[in-house]
Amino acid sequence: MSGNHLSLHDIKQMDQDYYFGVFGQRGPLVFERGEGSWLIDNQNNRYLDMLGGIAVNVLGHGNPALVSAISEQAAKLIHCSNLYYIENQAKLAKKLCSIAEMDKAFFCNSGAEANEAAIKLVRAYRNRSEDKRHVILTAKQSFHGRTLATATATGQEKYNLPFAPLPPGFDTLPFGDIFALKKKLEDGKVAALMLELVQGESGVHALEQAYVEEAALLCKKHDALLIIDEVQTGMGRTGYFTAARRYGIQADIITLAKGLGGGVPIAAMLARGDVCNGFLPGDHGSTFGGNPLATAAALAVINEIEKHDLMNEAKRKGELLANELNKIPGVRDVRGLGLMVAFGPVNQDAVTWKNSLMHAGILVGSVGLDTIRLLPPLTVSDSEIKHFVDAVKQVSHTFSS
Ligand SMILES: *Cc1c(COP(=O)(O)O)cnc(C)c1O
Repeated sequence: MSGNHLSLHDIKQMDQDYYFGVFGQRGPLVFERGEGSWLIDNQNNRYLDMLGGIAVNVLGHGNPALVSAISEQAAKLIHCSNLYYIENQAKLAKKLCSIAEMDKAFFCNSGAEANEAAIKLVRAYRNRSEDKRHVILTAKQSFHGRTLATATATGQEKYNLPFAPLPPGFDTLPFGDIFALKKKLEDGKVAALMLELVQGESGVHALEQAYVEEAALLCKKHDALLIIDEVQTGMGRTGYFTAARRYGIQADIITLAKGLGGGVPIAAMLARGDVCNGFLPGDHGSTFGGNPLATAAALAVINEIEKHDLMNEAKRKGELLANELNKIPGVRDVRGLGLMVAFGPVNQDAVTWKNSLMHAGILVGSVGLDTIRLLPPLTVSDSEIKHFVDAVKQVSHTFSS
């Protein structure tokens, strides 16, 4: 470690003094670089990254194709504003519309912003039509972001009650309850239903196939728009480009973010059909959204996903990971789709498990005290999965004795 670097202790102190305490106590690590599925800290310790920057680092760390796309674009032009045409932006819009079978794209910088754009599109579309329905329906325990509107859409009071008064026009329904959805749609106020097909942040809970199919049909019947929040499930995570594809449904609006730029902040709102006419010139915009650098990164990510068949790989490796975890006695309730996996740890709580795994050189996420969450790079290798499974066995064994 070179002499002008701060120690963990000093960084922690500085963070405590000057950074808003919104992240609470962070993991006691300072990472300096990454190689594939591995992160290396300022003490030169290596950690297997089974959380992938929370589903962001889909190509792992230091992917050569992504690094060179970013470096080459940065040397040419990082940003020029949306007052001018941007070649990468147009190419990315075309590419995403073709892969996701949508008609139009809008780029912004985060998942919350993409969902905010989706909400605004629905509202503008309805306000300009005869049909003035404006309620956006979401599921309990959902997570859609932290802007005022997306926090209100989020079906967890801890994310919105502190910020009251909240914007009106949102309502929630119980997760996976088709009768509750039917009832809400029948009252004639719902403009759109917004869903995560696999709830991520609240602990990796996938909706049932029958519910999703029925919900899509009900939306069509009641002329309610279907927004699928693919911020976490998109970019091949579940074994398909979108989870909507995996479930075999067609959404009116899809949002993407986390994995889209492989770590460079970029998000997308994709729409199809008549709702695309909801936005008129001046209705929406973004200073940074879809700039030359961010769109170069996203194009490189998609190219790598296609070139290395990472969607099918996510499906295969997700099954391998789940099968291996299911064999471990200290592991219960293994769930998820593709490389979006969670399990319930036995004998000790999830935070204790997470810390033990960290000491063993492995990074995972925890949700509450009963869920361990895994979102590894789609490039994670079979032998890295095996390394992870062996470490889980070890930890499980320690806690059972
Ligand atoms: C992470 C997440 C968001 C918010 O994304 P940000 O980039 O943090 O704004 C929204 N929806 C889902 C499903 C997410 O997982």
